[in-house]
Amino acid sequence: MEQVAAYREGVGDRPVAPSVDAARLRSLLGGPLAADGTNPHALLEQLAGAVDPALVATAGPRFFGFVVGGALDGATCADILTAGWDQVAFNFTTSPAGAVVEDVVGDWLKEAFGLPAHASFGLVTGGQGANTVALAAARHQVLAQAGWDVEERGLMGAPKIRVVAGEERHGTIDRSLRLLGLGAGIVEPVAADANGAIDPEALARLLEAGPEAPTIVCLQAGNVNTGACDDLAAACDAAHRYRSWVHVDGAFGLWAAVSPSTRHLVNGIERADSWAVDGHKWLNVPYDSGYVFCADTQAHTASMSYTAAYLVGHGQGSQRAPSDYVPESSRRARGFATWAALRELGRDGLGELVDRCCAYARSFGDRLGAIEGVEIGNEIVLNQVLVSFGSNERTDRVIANVQRDGTCWAGGTTWRGRRYMRISVSNWSTAEADVERSVAAIRRVLAETL
Ligand SMILES: *Cc1c(COP(=O)(O)O)cnc(C)c1O
Repeated sequence: MEQVAAYREGVGDRPVAPSVDAARLRSLLGGPLAADGTNPHALLEQLAGAVDPALVATAGPRFFGFVVGGALDGATCADILTAGWDQVAFNFTTSPAGAVVEDVVGDWLKEAFGLPAHASFGLVTGGQGANTVALAAARHQVLAQAGWDVEERGLMGAPKIRVVAGEERHGTIDRSLRLLGLGAGIVEPVAADANGAIDPEALARLLEAGPEAPTIVCLQAGNVNTGACDDLAAACDAAHRYRSWVHVDGAFGLWAAVSPSTRHLVNGIERADSWAVDGHKWLNVPYDSGYVFCADTQAHTASMSYTAAYLVGHGQGSQRAPSDYVPESSRRARGFATWAALRELGRDGLGELVDRCCAYARSFGDRLGAIEGVEIGNEIVLNQVLVSFGSNERTDRVIANVQRDGTCWAGGTTWRGRRYMRISVSNWSTAEADVERSVAAIRRVLAETL
């Protein structure tokens, strides 16, 4: 589509932050729903014109907020085809193409991450979805081990589960626990070190305190502030001594596995029981794509699949139904975009993408850290950088002014009680020149900020 191409060609030149007037935007888009229909050409022109100033250039090379990533060209085009094909990736009958492409990308991803080849795979909407599915499988398995069928009987009267997770876990873990009826308050937090990785000894001590209970341990690869990864090998050893299920939330950090230079950060990754990772972050697949894997395939399908009279006897034979591994029934064929991204990059390109982003993160750290009064707040192990510009107040003013300046965009965060600008480098199109331009802009804004 021409409009898409034009937007993407110009995305590196527009101010990264939108200059949005919410009331005007609402009036351009809103008003009462018209009784008469509109010609698609006319409405698309109206839509594109109205929203353009309100778009955030997250697809561009100088958006460093949150951990988002952009979208590779091939993956974006495949996603446009996906919309045009409008496949229902429910099972092999509703779309053989949609089902088989998910089998293929599942295998490719397991190979790239070094996960067990027999692990099951579900293509979900993101890290939140992946964490929820994995923890549902975990809930199934630890309760089945205690003689309880949670899918049939629910949680009322069930044996008490323990959930042990790092104190610096992502908030989506808590939401998944809420959705699964376990409650966020169930978490027994494990202390983390200065960079946010758990202390495996502290984990072992916690587990020792209740060795008989059905237990789920949540580990993390890639802390959203610092990029720190838990020591997966040591933590898996400790957890498996107590027959716990080990889940790894590696929404962006699991990608460390694809490059020889960062692989050591996730040593032992293959020993976990389930893994959650995003496609729409570091793989640069368009929204919304996340991946969940379980070593125990049966626990995965037991927690997700269902059947109905109209679903059997469709001649699916031995074909895998993607919907048996996710919480959705009707769903878009997300596999095409991931297939395209992995083909576009190849194994080497994937590793280079990760290496490049990490190198730029270190470059941000070196250049900004060399400025008088600027401090880097984390050990830069991956693609995340925390930058303080003095007092909390001044740091917040600098962040606001950098955002207003529009050359680049980075958000704020609180880490260990102190305010920081958080820079995440995860876009395929970010180049050395973008780092230089962004550092120059931050330097300029800093000099003008009291
Ligand atoms: C982003 C992130 C999530 C949530 O992923 P979504 O794709 O936003 O649902 C979970 N865990 C970690 C560590 C993350 O960085």
